[in-house]
Amino acid sequence: MQRPLIGITARHVNTSEGLPAVRILRAYVTAIVDAGGAPILIPPELPEGCWRVLLDRLDGVLFSGGADIGLEHFDGEPHPTVDVEPVRDALELPLLRAAVDADKPLLGICRGFQVMNVALGGTLYTHILDQLPNALQHDWHDKPRDTLAHSIRVEEGTRLAEILGAPLLQVNSLHHQGIKDLAPSLKATAYSPDGLIEGIELPNHKFALAVQWHPEWMRSHEEMRRLFRMFVEAAK
Ligand code: MN
Repeated sequence: MQRPLIGITARHVNTSEGLPAVRILRAYVTAIVDAGGAPILIPPELPEGCWRVLLDRLDGVLFSGGADIGLEHFDGEPHPTVDVEPVRDALELPLLRAAVDADKPLLGICRGFQVMNVALGGTLYTHILDQLPNALQHDWHDKPRDTLAHSIRVEEGTRLAEILGAPLLQVNSLHHQGIKDLAPSLKATAYSPDGLIEGIELPNHKFALAVQWHPEWMRSHEEMRRLFRMFVEAAK
């Protein structure tokens, strides 16, 4: 069986020598390869004529994690902790809308989850701890990435419930922002105990699903491997 071609959104960084580079963490690559896909990197800030050619040839798109989305895209409340990646916004927001329009399978992770909500008209808390009353700690960047941080309750009757196969799961948590207003076309598929949305999907789409946690760092959990397999399967 041929491996579907999965684009993974990447970021701009400087190498240790100060040279501009394009980068993704290998956990995403490994997750896609193990799930049966062939990964390819999508650099940020491509001209539209360029990313449209890529999108045309891709069988699926993985919107990866990263820094915050520019506040101007959702009229967000300024906060001193906000750390943006404008070159990624410039690519990822229109790319997500185009992927939805083309019914291309897509999976969003962390920043990618927030990109999906904002691209489709939703808003974000720009710092959960200061803006969501009684919020749990969601920013566990000082711990190993597979640290189980909080539970999620998965909504019955959703694609995510079908994939994960359990109504209650423990997940990692590496984010300081989260969904405030859900985009009108999206359905919430999972919640943390403080009421924060941790999963979303677009009903009536081939596969358009996103999670706030990082399944690529939970590959020792069969449910999370299944999430990647189902995504790659949908892209075949
Ligand atoms: Mn969380």
